[in-house]
Amino acid sequence: MKNHQNDDIVKTPDAPPQGADVEEALLLRIKGIKKKIARLGEIRPGTLTEQYNVCGRKNCRCKDKANPQKHGPYYQLSYTRNGKSTSEFVREDDLKRVRGQLADYQKFAALKDEWVGASIDLAKLRRERRKAEKA
Ligand SMILES: [Zn+2]
Repeated sequence: MKNHQNDDIVKTPDAPPQGADVEEALLLRIKGIKKKIARLGEIRPGTLTEQYNVCGRKNCRCKDKANPQKHGPYYQLSYTRNGKSTSEFVREDDLKRVRGQLADYQKFAALKDEWVGASIDLAKLRRERRKAEKA
């Protein structure tokens, strides 16, 4: 059986939570986020793509008319840093490491977003608490 008395509190999912226990929960969440960030390794932004190329040699298999077999895959990492787009080839030996760096960057970005969200929620909570104290 649902308690309809609390409907005004849970109306919107993004409504800032209330109370000191909620502040404590948000602070704990931030602490947890920081711990997870500390466990990350190298963080590299970017997208890894596979490329297949045609070479300059005559009569190469990559130019076969019936069944062209392009060279590759070559792995290319593209990213933007300080407003500048860059791409570089990644050696097959480095693929595993680079994929790990990209994965950790994604985790970092998600955690950063969560941290910002929790910080904004905290600020809202404190502001509303001050308002309530004045009233
Ligand atoms: Zn070729």
